[in-house]
Amino acid sequence: MRALVFAKHPKLQEVPIPERLPGQALIRMELAGICNTDIEIIQGYSNFRGILGHEFVGMVAEADDQSLVGKRVVGSIDVACGECKFCREGEPDFCSNKKTMGMHRWQGCLADYVVLPEANLVIVPDNVSSVAAVFTEPVSSALQILEQATITPDDAVIVLGDGKLGLVTAQAFKIRGLNVTVLGKHIDKLAKASKFGVNCDFVDEFSGRADVVIDCTGNPEGLAKAIDLVRPRGVVVIKSLYHNSGKLNLGGIVSKELTCIGSRQGSMAKAMELLATGAMDVDSLVEAVYPAADIAGAFKRAVRKGALKVLVDFSDSCEHVNLNTGGWWR
Ligand SMILES: [Zn+2]
Ligand SMILES: [Zn+2]
Repeated sequence: MRALVFAKHPKLQEVPIPERLPGQALIRMELAGICNTDIEIIQGYSNFRGILGHEFVGMVAEADDQSLVGKRVVGSIDVACGECKFCREGEPDFCSNKKTMGMHRWQGCLADYVVLPEANLVIVPDNVSSVAAVFTEPVSSALQILEQATITPDDAVIVLGDGKLGLVTAQAFKIRGLNVTVLGKHIDKLAKASKFGVNCDFVDEFSGRADVVIDCTGNPEGLAKAIDLVRPRGVVVIKSLYHNSGKLNLGGIVSKELTCIGSRQGSMAKAMELLATGAMDVDSLVEAVYPAADIAGAFKRAVRKGALKVLVDFSDSCEHVNLNTGGWWR
């Protein structure tokens, strides 16, 4: 099968189809998303080496649970060990031996096939398009914030960053009835935010004291800005992983007595429920769809400054593999 393998450099390669163990499903990839985390890994954010990718929708080709076979699915990306203290206490999210698809000790989904535990899978309802389904993880990531922080409609919430995660988060918050403003730097993306009925402003022109600031910028300066924008004793939510944290000045957290919450992805099932209502407009967050054979082109597009979600279509035949893709990551 074709797979985007990251060793020294990312490269589309021919590799064996992964073998599934009991309790696991083999999934035939349909569409996969390129996430900032994939780009950060290529740029040296982690030591992960292997097949990249963690956002996908695919069809179950093989599973022990026959009711899953032939179903369109998405999957949560963490694979817990089931044996450590956290797993035994019912907190698999904090498993101390956790593997994460395409990031840590588990092969990713930028490939024709991927394996995941059956328990990780969520079936995609017929009324949710495959393009929308790829957004399940980012939507879950947005909803997770609401599980962690108590935010009421009276709170002034700022979503800092008008990238993919910022726009998904702002939209989900708006649907949940919250008073949200997106701050960004790109007029076209802020226009999208306003189309969702969300307030928006340029980050440099905004001043004010928000109750809650969600940092979706993906860069360390964003966190500094978030600390600046929030009111004393307000809440800052950190959604980003940075490969270079620079010299962060965290003094504002102390002087303002802030509550800082680190937040990652949440329940895929709850995110799918929201997508199935049809209330989220994720189609307008798609920058482009590339065939898997041109994954190099897809990454080139995804790393362009200000790019929205780039998808890779694996539903074409596995026959024509373009292995002449060296050098494109630069
Ligand atoms: Zn991601
Ligand atoms: Zn565990």
